[in-house]
Amino acid sequence: MNTAEKQKVALSSIHDFAAKLRQPDTLPRVKEYVKWLASGENRNPEAMPDFAPVSINLDLTTACNYACDHCVDKEILNLNIRYDHQRLLDSLQLMAEKGLKSVIVIGGGEPTTYPKFEQTIRFMKKLGLQVSIVSNGAGNKKIASIADCLDKGDWVRLSLDSGTDPTFQAMHLPKIKITLEEICAHIPDIKAVNSSFKVGFSYIVTWQGAHIFDENIVENMHEMAEAAALAKQNQFDYIAFKPFLTRAEINNAEIIDLEASDKRYQKIVKVISEQLDKASALEDGSFKIHRTTNLKMLLTGEKSTDNIGQPQRCHMQFFRQILSPLGTYNCPVYRNQPHGQLGEKDGYADAKGYAGVRDTCTSMIHDFNATKECENVTCLYNHVNWWFEDLIKNPEKLDALIPHTPEEEDYFL
Ligand code: SF4
Repeated sequence: MNTAEKQKVALSSIHDFAAKLRQPDTLPRVKEYVKWLASGENRNPEAMPDFAPVSINLDLTTACNYACDHCVDKEILNLNIRYDHQRLLDSLQLMAEKGLKSVIVIGGGEPTTYPKFEQTIRFMKKLGLQVSIVSNGAGNKKIASIADCLDKGDWVRLSLDSGTDPTFQAMHLPKIKITLEEICAHIPDIKAVNSSFKVGFSYIVTWQGAHIFDENIVENMHEMAEAAALAKQNQFDYIAFKPFLTRAEINNAEIIDLEASDKRYQKIVKVISEQLDKASALEDGSFKIHRTTNLKMLLTGEKSTDNIGQPQRCHMQFFRQILSPLGTYNCPVYRNQPHGQLGEKDGYADAKGYAGVRDTCTSMIHDFNATKECENVTCLYNHVNWWFEDLIKNPEKLDALIPHTPEEEDYFL
């Protein structure tokens, strides 16, 4: 292993995803998977360990009732392509029987607009799955209606990105009549039903001149502290700040739209730092401020090569997949991309479909070249992919793998 590889592996030992996969319920699966690939190239799909992914992103719908300026899924919104609901439930059931542990109900559209949202969430909880929901806040009544079935360890996160209603309206362009204050006012109702799971306020920090797909993004960096106060006042458990990311023209990778050499940089960083200081003053035992690593790096002017440079094989396509009305995919980055497709939207609904997805997944693990396809993609799974590479090259290390037992089980990948 060269030095760069060693560094990546060293980082992986402290990376969350590797730790999550070492939990007692999933460690045997990791070992089986590593032994399969360590035994040499084997393209027989029946030889691949007989499991569904540990975790999926579930896009319930492509419909959305907002038209956010910063949406990365614009091209796939409101396509009027739907699940057959019973086939969706059959897929979830089969995956749970084959080892699925968690579902992040997210993207592509607004999940609460799915007509059978409540039934689907309750069905997944009855299957014993961990469930999280990422929503735009317009369906908080529906979230309150299923709050009783969520558990500690499940979570809900609302993408709100503003501290005042005029900014909220300008950024999110809701197609329905709704205000930021109305959305936030539902959180105490949700908490009154069940306070065991966390509810977060998500805030993408934007600045003047930020743009994506030739569209200028509304600036919100002056409202970070105001948003934190609003979140705290309405019983959110935390607010999470992350920088706006744009798409690189060269390869569509998500990148920060601001460099330290930019003449706007000093001014923008000063404002964001001041806002973060004010927001931090609001932290206490029941309310936290989270900053993502890339926001911290933006503020220090560091340029990271971390999470860039993938191994040839992406192992996470076996452990984490995307189920959307458009099909089954290997990665959130390749939602709706033919070269990332593992199967149809009902690929997991019956034994025949399951065999088909396994067949494609076996080929993809061998043939999807992440080094090339994901060149320069800032991939959250970079460390865990390199960790697998190391184990496959050195399978004797499997015996020394110690199960990781966190205070709270967490299978979200
Ligand atoms: S971006 Fe990362 S997780 Fe997605 S396919 Fe590429 S290497 Fe795998």
